[in-house]
Amino acid sequence: MIKKESINDLVIFGGEQAFREKLYVGCPNIGNRQRLLTRINEALDRRWLTNNGPNVQEFEKKVSEYIGVKHCIAVCNGTMGLEIASKAVALTGEVIVPSFTFVATAHALKWMGITPVFCDIDSDTYMMDPRLIEELITQHTTAIMGVHLWGRPCKIEEISQIADKHNLKVLFDAAHAFGATYKGKNIGNFGNAEVFSFHATKFLNTFEGGAIVTNDDHLALKIRSMKNFGFDSGDNVISLGINGKMNEISAAMGLTMLEDVDELIAGNYRHYTEYGKALAGTKGIELMSYDEPEKYNYQYIVLEMDEEISGVTRDQLVKILNLENVLVRTYFAPGCHNMAPYCTAPSNFKQNLTVTESLAGRVICLPTGSAITKEQINHICEIIRFVIKNGEEIKTRMDELQ
Ligand SMILES: *Cc1c(COP(=O)(O)O)cnc(C)c1O
Repeated sequence: MIKKESINDLVIFGGEQAFREKLYVGCPNIGNRQRLLTRINEALDRRWLTNNGPNVQEFEKKVSEYIGVKHCIAVCNGTMGLEIASKAVALTGEVIVPSFTFVATAHALKWMGITPVFCDIDSDTYMMDPRLIEELITQHTTAIMGVHLWGRPCKIEEISQIADKHNLKVLFDAAHAFGATYKGKNIGNFGNAEVFSFHATKFLNTFEGGAIVTNDDHLALKIRSMKNFGFDSGDNVISLGINGKMNEISAAMGLTMLEDVDELIAGNYRHYTEYGKALAGTKGIELMSYDEPEKYNYQYIVLEMDEEISGVTRDQLVKILNLENVLVRTYFAPGCHNMAPYCTAPSNFKQNLTVTESLAGRVICLPTGSAITKEQINHICEIIRFVIKNGEEIKTRMDELQ
C-alpha cells in the first residue's frame, strides 16, 4: 500500500496506485471451500443436478428456519423471484415502487407488462416515503412494492396500512436484507411475500439465485408450481408457469454460506465500525448508520457527501478512488426514473422525485465483505481523508484537467 504525502502522489496527478489489487464493492463472500466442494461432489454423484434436488430442499428448509417464515421457494435469481411473486399475487396495471433502487425492481414489473410508478424517498431514511404514496394511487394500482434498501427495512407498517386501506397487494424487494429485522421480527415475514436475491454480490450468495418467502400457504403452493412450468406436485400442469428453478450447485453454495452467516455478519459489522472510526470527523462526509438494536447484515457501507463542505465533488472522489484501485460504486444513482425505458415515460417523474435526485448525487458505496481486511479499510479511509483535507486544491486541479 502506497501512502499519499502530497497530492501529486495520487494516481490522477501521476502518482503510484495505492493498491495493487482491486478492492471492489460487491466482491463475493465465499464460505468454506471444502464443504462446498463436498456438497458439489455429492450432487454430481447423485446425478441429480436440478428439479427440486436434495440441496435445494435443504436450503429452502434452512432459510425458512433462519427467518422463521413458513415457506421459502428458492429461485434462479432475484429478478425472476420478483416476477413470479408479482404474477402469483396477480399484479397488473400500476405498482408503486421507489425509484432509488437497483433497476431490477422496476424492470421485473415492466417485464411483466406492469407500469412501475415511482415514489420519492424520505430524506431521513432514504426509504420510500409513505406520505407520498396515496397521491400516486390510481384506479390501475394493484400493489405497493417496498424495497429494503441497503439492507435496512423500509417503512413496512405504514406501507401495509395504506395497502390495506386501498385493498392493494404488498410485496417487498428484500434483495439486500437477508438477516435483517424490522421491529425485532425477521425480514421475510411481511407483506404478501418478500423476495431475496442471492446474486454473487449480495450478502448471502448462491452464484445466481434468490428466494420468495411467504407465510401464505395458498400463495406458496402457487409460486412453487409457477416456478416449475406450472406443474403441481405430480405430472399435471395446473397453471401458466416458467422455469425459475434453483440448481443444486447454487443450493450447495447457499447451504455452505448459511453455515457462516453469523460470522459473515460479525465481519461486516467490524468493517462498518472500522469505517465509522476511521472517517469520524471528516468534513463533508457522513457514513450511513444502521440503527441498533435491529439486526442487519451490514453489506453496504454508504458514504454520503456534502460537496459544499468536502471541497471535491462526489464524482471527483469516485474517480480518484477508482484510479487507486478502490472500485467504489454510486449505488443507486441515477435512480430508475432516469434510466431507459422509464426516462422517456410521458409523465415527468423528475419533479416529484427531488429527494431521490439529490441523494443520487451524493452517495458512494465502499468495499466491504470477507474479501477485504481491516488494514485495507484503514488505508481507503486514509485516502478519503487526504482527498477531503486537500479538497479545494484537488478540485481546482481536476477541474483544470477536464
Ligand atoms: C440484486 C437486486 C435485485 C435482483 O436480484 P438478482 O438476483 O440479481 O436478479 C433486485 N432488487 C434489488 C434491490 C437488487 O439489489
